[in-house]
Parts: sequence; C-alpha cells; structure tokens
Amino acid sequence: MAKYDIAVIGSGPGGYVAALRAAKLGRKVCLVERVALGGVCLNRGCIPTKTLTHLAEVCALVKRGGEIGIDAGEVRVDFARMQANKDAVVDRLKRGVAGLLKHAGVAVVMGTGRLAERKKVAVKLNDGGDELVEADKVIIATGSDPARPSWLPSGTDRVITSDEALRLTALPSSILILGGGYIGCEFASIFAQLGAEVTVVEMLDRLLPTLDGDIGAEIAKALKRLKAKVHVAMKVESLDVGQGGVRAKLSDGKAVEAELALVCVGRRLLSADLGLEPAGIKVEKGAVAVDEHCETSAAGVYAIGDVTGRMLLAHVATAQGIAAAEHAAGQNARIDYRCVPAAVFTNPEVATVGLTEAEARGAGRKARAAKFSLQALGRAVALGETAGFAKVVADEETGQVLGVHIVGAHASDVVAEGAMAIALEATVTELAQTIHAHPTLPEAVMEAARAWLGQGIHG
Ligand code: FAD
Repeated sequence: MAKYDIAVIGSGPGGYVAALRAAKLGRKVCLVERVALGGVCLNRGCIPTKTLTHLAEVCALVKRGGEIGIDAGEVRVDFARMQANKDAVVDRLKRGVAGLLKHAGVAVVMGTGRLAERKKVAVKLNDGGDELVEADKVIIATGSDPARPSWLPSGTDRVITSDEALRLTALPSSILILGGGYIGCEFASIFAQLGAEVTVVEMLDRLLPTLDGDIGAEIAKALKRLKAKVHVAMKVESLDVGQGGVRAKLSDGKAVEAELALVCVGRRLLSADLGLEPAGIKVEKGAVAVDEHCETSAAGVYAIGDVTGRMLLAHVATAQGIAAAEHAAGQNARIDYRCVPAAVFTNPEVATVGLTEAEARGAGRKARAAKFSLQALGRAVALGETAGFAKVVADEETGQVLGVHIVGAHASDVVAEGAMAIALEATVTELAQTIHAHPTLPEAVMEAARAWLGQGIHG
C-alpha cells in the first residue's frame, strides 16, 4: 500500500491546485482522477466554452465587417474545425497541468477513488485492478456533472447537455435551450452568433435570475439582437423526440421545434458513492458540508469545489483548494466568500462582484445603486460595443462599495477593479477619484461611482 501525507480525489481546478500547493509545502501527495486531468473546467467547462465564445465573437465581428469597412465576403462556419481548435487549446493546457504535477512530484493515479476509511482511499484503476492509497489527510474534489431531469427523453442524441454540446461536430440549424442560467446563456450566445436559430426557455421571470435585476433584461435584449427567441417565466411542459428533431410544449400552450434540445438546468454534485457517510462526513442535499478551512465534519478530511455546493465556480474551487491544502499542511488558512467575482461570457459579457442592491438591503444595509450606460463611454463607442452598463452599489451611510455589476465588452476583465475595491473596503469616493486611463472600459466603473455621488460627468 502506497503511503502519502495528502491524497486528493478529483483533479479539477480545486483538486489539482490543492495537490500542487500541498506538494510545494513539502508534502507527499497523491492525486486520483478517473477521467482527465483538469476536471470539468479544463475539459468540459470554462476553457472549451470560452474558446468557442471567442470564435463565435470573431464570427459575429466578421459578419458585420462590411459596416466598418472590412468586407470579408460571405462567412462560412466550419464547426468541426472550431471544435478542433478548441480541443487543441484544451490539450495544450492539459499537458501544462500534467507537467506542473510531474514537476512538483505529485503521484497521479488514474482511477475512481472512494474513502475506504478516514485515512484510506480505495482506487479502482482505469486500466484494471485496485490500489489502496493511505494518507494522513484526504481532500475530496469530485466536482459536479450536468443535471438531467428524469422526465426528459433519454438514450437520444437529440437531447444533450453541455458535455455533448462541446463534442458536436456540426452546427445545429436550430437549438432549444432549457434554462437561462449562465451555461444556457453562454451557449445561446455562441450558437446564435454562429447563425443557428436559438430559443431559450427560462422558468423564472428573467435570464440569469440569481444576478442583479437589470442584467437579465440586458442579456435578453442582446440575444434578441442576435435573432434568438427568449421566453422567461415559461416552462417546458413536455419534450418529444421525432425523426427530424425535438418538439417542446411550453406552459403557454405553444410549441417549439428544433434540431436539438440542450439541457442547462443546473449541476448534480458528485458526492455519492464516495464512502462519505460511513466515514462520518455530513452531506446536505448532495453538498459536502465544510467549515471555513474546507474541513468536513471528519477531522483530516477536506472537501473543495463544486461538491461543497458553495459557489459553483472554478476560481472558488481553486481558492478552496489552496485553503484546504494549507490547512492540511498545518497552516491556519481559511476562506472568505465575501468578495467572489463571477462572469458570464455572453456577448456582451456580464460580470459581477459583491452584493446587489436588493441583497445589501436584505442584509440590513442602507444601500443605493447608481448606473452608467456604456452608450456614453468613448471606448465602448470606438469598439462599437455600446450595449450594457456599469452599476455600483454602496452603503448610503459610509460610502463603502458593496457591489459592482457590469454588462459590456470585456466585463470579465473590468470587474477585477470592483473586486479589489470591495476587498480593500474602498469607498465610492475613492473609486470615483482614482484616475483611470482614457479611453478604457474601466472608466465606466469610475463614471458609475461618480454618478452615485451625484457628480456624473458623461451621464
Ligand atoms: P471539477 O472540475 O468538476 O472536477 C472534478 C474532477 O473529479 C473530474 O475530473 C472528475 O472526473 C473527477 N472525479 C469525480 N469523482 C471521482 C472519483 N470518485 N474518483 C476520481 N476522480 C473523480 N466556472 C468559472 O469560474 N468560469 C467559467 O467560465 C465557467 N464556465 C463553465 C462552463 C460550463 C459549460 C460548465 C459545465 C462549467 C463552467 N464553470 C465555470 C464551472 C467550473 O467548471 C466548475 O465550477 C469547476 O470545474 C469546479 O471545479 P472542481 O475542482 O470542484 O471539480
């Protein structure tokens, strides 16, 4: 039996980073992975979707090139080549992760792991046989899979999830997307920009329903500009599969037909079959319960990433992975969720950090928001990307910045400033008085801060 200081099950952005951090702290580490290094993020999530997002944006830009004096003629989409391009990006990064792990001396075991006892991980090896890994500490980083409600037709390649969407080799002529959360909206944006007929159906009253109230409406407008159909406060009552595609019945009695249905209704946390309960580990509705060190109810066993059900984001998994590795190595690391940015890579992008006005008020703060439209921002006009806004939420009494919410080009980059402002407990005055380079997109955040103070210049 091989003996280690720390064993990690799952090699997503939580698990592989935890393994690297622990190894850099001098610990002997084993990493168990059953599918592919890099987990969902690298193989079936962040990286492949963002590669396709970029390619779809290039396509949209080339299509309107004539308007700006660059007429590239008729645009032909070779979806198989786009996917090959995406696969090359994934492979390159995967080789990078493998190299980092090798360099750090992490032992990688390819197989399915489960806790045999608190300090033992039993692994069913992918190439046959079993291995028992003994470790002083164990980190569970098994992530999540696409949720697929049982009423949907199964055993058909007409009803797919994000996993299969990333393996399509031909662009569907039409696609029905069930769910207007961030994964549904990103795929809607990709397929609509590439020229597919897209219909999005969201059960709640707006797209991206967990974010600031104005964001969903802005993204619905953007998708409609791309000729997508958006139905909110609407349910798919039934879905039938025929020869040519799918036919859905909506709750308003209307029908939608499409070549494919893409199910984006959430994620299933992978906490089952890991031997957690027998080891005394508390699991609540599929989520492994952890404290601020990411330690579970069993001392020495940690859980990180999606499987904790906290915030299903790669950078949260990574931050948890670092905290868990450091704590497991004897440091007093903890994790703080107050300042976690999140981005949605639609066109235009969405990015948000901190509290919405409603959340701040709900938390008992006297909060107020101010908004600045990108229509009035020089750089946005120069880019021809004027859809969207920057919104700052701040405490009425202290001026402390509580939230920054952006829709617009490169919002995922611009939001870093908001995250920094919140982390450093900056005031809206400090944000407004920070001189920003011109003409740049982050000026929108400064303008929103000025608007909050009643000192708006361009809006
Ligand atoms: P995962 O990445 O899910 O990895 C878990 C790993 O554990 C997998 O490789 C799995 O094979 C392995 N595993 C599971 N069980 C076992 C076992 N018993 N034994 C051995 N191995 C096991 N997040 C962002 O922050 N930004 C984005 O832009 C973004 N885009 C996304 C787009 C899509 C389409 C999807 C689906 C997700 C996206 N996410 C994004 C979410 C992000 O991918 C996840 O939050 C992140 O991957 C979670 O990391 P993790 O380490 O918890 O687990």
